[in-house]
Amino acid sequence: MNKTRVNFPRFGSYDVAVEHIIRAGLDCEYVNTPPITKKTLEIGSKYSPDFVCTPFKYNLGGYIESIEAGANTLIQIGGVCRLGYYGELQKQILKDLGYDVKFINMANANFRKPITFYEEFKKVNPNLNLKKITSACMLAVHMVEVIDKVEDFIRQNVGFEKEEGSFDKLHHEFLDDLRDVNDKKELNLLYKLYMKKFKKIEIDKPKNPLKVGFVGEYYTIMDQYSNHYMEKELAKKGIVIYRWMNLTNSILNPHVKEVKQSIKNYAKYDMGATAMFTIKKAIDYAKDGCDGIIHVKSFGCTPEIDTMPVLQRISEDFKIPIIYFSFDSQTSDVGINTRVEAFYDMIMMRKEGKK
Ligand code: SF4
Repeated sequence: MNKTRVNFPRFGSYDVAVEHIIRAGLDCEYVNTPPITKKTLEIGSKYSPDFVCTPFKYNLGGYIESIEAGANTLIQIGGVCRLGYYGELQKQILKDLGYDVKFINMANANFRKPITFYEEFKKVNPNLNLKKITSACMLAVHMVEVIDKVEDFIRQNVGFEKEEGSFDKLHHEFLDDLRDVNDKKELNLLYKLYMKKFKKIEIDKPKNPLKVGFVGEYYTIMDQYSNHYMEKELAKKGIVIYRWMNLTNSILNPHVKEVKQSIKNYAKYDMGATAMFTIKKAIDYAKDGCDGIIHVKSFGCTPEIDTMPVLQRISEDFKIPIIYFSFDSQTSDVGINTRVEAFYDMIMMRKEGKK
């Protein structure tokens, strides 16, 4: 193994899959981003331009913490919104701060030409083996799918566990064991084993529980710290949580044409990033009988700001309450909790009233 110590920004539970690519595919050491804390955001905010969205600040803060933990090579993913430009800016900021690290910006790669990813990965390890990196990436994709399936199950049941913390504990064990998986066969076995265990957890689920759908921007919706653990807090109140947005659905199987077609009465043009998916899922949750919808985004996320008037129309057309949360470095837990509580009371009273 060479001395390259690679970090990739922390994102939901997917660091296990990223770690596999870095260790097994790139043959490098992996430096995981330390768990995101208030300090991460403070560091990120201190060195970020004011106008950037919060994921930029989390990423930058995480990079600096990872460099301090030993990383000497950083990877930025790039993206279809402003995220595509963030790599360049972060690279310059780190250089100005005096950090001597290699910065690989995947925004330079092109999804239509997979070979460009190989070329970028070669900058991390010039002796890269094409077969190794391909099979590592393929297994990582399957890991992502398994993580998403497991987490979907958790979201829909965790609110009804008889012993508090049972799902969380098993989820951590699952992610730990996932680190040791070497091929698809092992992965499938692990998935089956854990699904059996998850299904054995004792729950007390009513016939017609409250159901809430989450929609919104990639990072904020998938990163628990960024959304102040909102899913968990709501689930604890005995609510089934639906959240379509994950990497499997939005990146691996986005079905863009169908999505565009199905929202044509609400949006004619693609507004970028997650906007189309947000609209599509809000309609689906309304039609599927959810009791409310929660929209989350980072402060300054233009694609998601554009969806808000459309969501308002959906709310009126389907008579479904929607609440909006915008997160930035100043957002306090108290304000969030008060609004979540009020939303919960309201959807519960509505449901009671319908009986
Ligand atoms: S989707 Fe929005 S919040 Fe996320 S990186 Fe793009 S502009 Fe920023």
